Amino acid sequence: MTTSASGFDLTPLSDEERQARAASLSAEERHVILNQGTERPFCGQFYDHQQSGTYHCRLCTLPLFQAAAKFDSGSGWPSFFQPIDPDHIRYLEDRSHGMLRTEIRCRRCDGHLGHVFADGPPPSGQRYCLNSLSLSFIPDETTW
Ligand SMILES: [Zn+2]
Repeated sequence: MTTSASGFDLTPLSDEERQARAASLSAEERHVILNQGTERPFCGQFYDHQQSGTYHCRLCTLPLFQAAAKFDSGSGWPSFFQPIDPDHIRYLEDRSHGMLRTEIRCRRCDGHLGHVFADGPPPSGQRYCLNSLSLSFIPDETTW
């Protein structure tokens, strides 16, 4: 089993499990998460979302970002200056659309999250630009 520094199981999903989870997604979510789509800015569920809590991968529920790391980038997409654990993110070079960008994916299920840019606020200087459709949110006051 592969475990991240913060103690989460990073063992990749099997194809069967990934398909089973993807079956419960909407067509829009499938487009973004499985086909590297991008939702329209200022339309997502979370770009202007202020509540304290944790943002998880929509497909496999791995925790990815804390609300405390969220900031208003003005881009119209939810933006974070750091992930919960750098091990939870996979980074890929993306040369689509005539640009060189860094795509970010969930380390466990390989679901597309968005891109990361080097124009974020201090101290990290990073801007993790997310699709709301790639995330699910669990508020802090949730009791299990
Ligand atoms: Zn995932």
